[in-house]
Amino acid sequence: MSETLILSARWGKPGSAKLENYRADGGYQALDKALGMEPVAVVEEVKKSNLRGRGGAGFATGLKWTFLPKDIRPRYLTVNADESEPGTFKDRYIMEHDPHMLLEGIAITCLALDIHLAYIYIRGEFAKQARALEAAIAEARAAGIIGPRLLGKKDFALDVHVHRGAGAYICGEESALLESLEGKKGYPRLKPPFPAVVGLWGKPTIINNVETIANVPWIVQHGGEAFAALGVGKSGGTRLFGVSGHVNRPGVYEKPVAYNLKKLIMEDAGGVLGGRKLKAVIPGGSSAPVLAAHEIDISMEFDAVKAAGSMSGSGGVIVFDESACMVRALARLARFYAEESCGQCTPCREGTNWMEGMLHRIEAGHAGAADVARLEQVANSIAGNTICALGDAAAMPVQSFLKKFKPEFLAHCELRRCPCGDTAWGLTQEPRDAVAGPMRYAR
Ligand code: SF4
Repeated sequence: MSETLILSARWGKPGSAKLENYRADGGYQALDKALGMEPVAVVEEVKKSNLRGRGGAGFATGLKWTFLPKDIRPRYLTVNADESEPGTFKDRYIMEHDPHMLLEGIAITCLALDIHLAYIYIRGEFAKQARALEAAIAEARAAGIIGPRLLGKKDFALDVHVHRGAGAYICGEESALLESLEGKKGYPRLKPPFPAVVGLWGKPTIINNVETIANVPWIVQHGGEAFAALGVGKSGGTRLFGVSGHVNRPGVYEKPVAYNLKKLIMEDAGGVLGGRKLKAVIPGGSSAPVLAAHEIDISMEFDAVKAAGSMSGSGGVIVFDESACMVRALARLARFYAEESCGQCTPCREGTNWMEGMLHRIEAGHAGAADVARLEQVANSIAGNTICALGDAAAMPVQSFLKKFKPEFLAHCELRRCPCGDTAWGLTQEPRDAVAGPMRYAR
């Protein structure tokens, strides 16, 4: 039996981003169906679907929608398209190959939540994807799908704008994203209040990831229960898993949400590069704690990965083979977080730079065992003590790499050089390139 493809079914088809082709494939029929439903019934379907946020946190989408205060208007929808976590490269394909699917999801969500203005906040580097979205919005406006009347049938005004960021990772954090959208520096806000209550320009705002919203048309068309049935427990549907690093076929794979991680790497992604042995896997984007090779025979469902001591996160699976130096790999990640810290709070601003510096010293053989202990101490001091989750995101890889691979760190200190040789994660590579791998998709 062929697997159900919700998000990637149209990728690679000629003209897949065009309105006429989207409509020929059944596009905007879910919006038509939603127009005949009570808004609360649409929300109920999303609740029944067990759709969980695909941006990283995995929060129940339908439940999040119910946090909007009932009597405050206007409300806003903001789609988080600031995909910047190393190892995560899936939303860009939705926006490039099927922008109308995202737009239909936005229209249904806005209809269900009585929202009349939506923003897509897109990472600054995604020029191609921003153009694809703008073209799709223009087509939809011209065809009367959005604008003063939804699908030309219902008096429900909806406008959608694309807002390009300036390439800061921190603007993927939802409150920093709102600050940036308001024209300010992308500093995360203290929470509570949460954006669903006090969001954009102080008004209630729902912020959902691209992949999350792109699932909504399928849920409305096929029913929440059908979506839930594709998953297990409290997680429904399929997911886009981006597999990168030392595998033969890196790419984006759409699989059921509870797909086996080992199968994804060893079968779908073609196994480890060059027939070498697997060493480690980061299962959910660079901030997710690393798993050792023997720990990967697990379901990728959110709660299952959490039970295994990591996070399913954004579905960005980064694979390390036996040739990888874990100190060098961690130093690359530490450099990324040090660069991307907004500097607002001391543990993150100072700690991320300390960690990067210590890791480079360990890697170069200029450190001792006491430095390894200090590195762990600094990571523990950052975790849980910052305004936003970037502090934790920087600390968790350090904590988990040390937990799983401490002898390798100590070996650098004892030998006063890297024991792995210069085989991977070259010093000249930029951290994002080194970790994220090539951008392409595969099914
Ligand atoms: Fe900024 Fe880091 Fe503090 Fe987040 S944790 S607010 S990125 S300094």
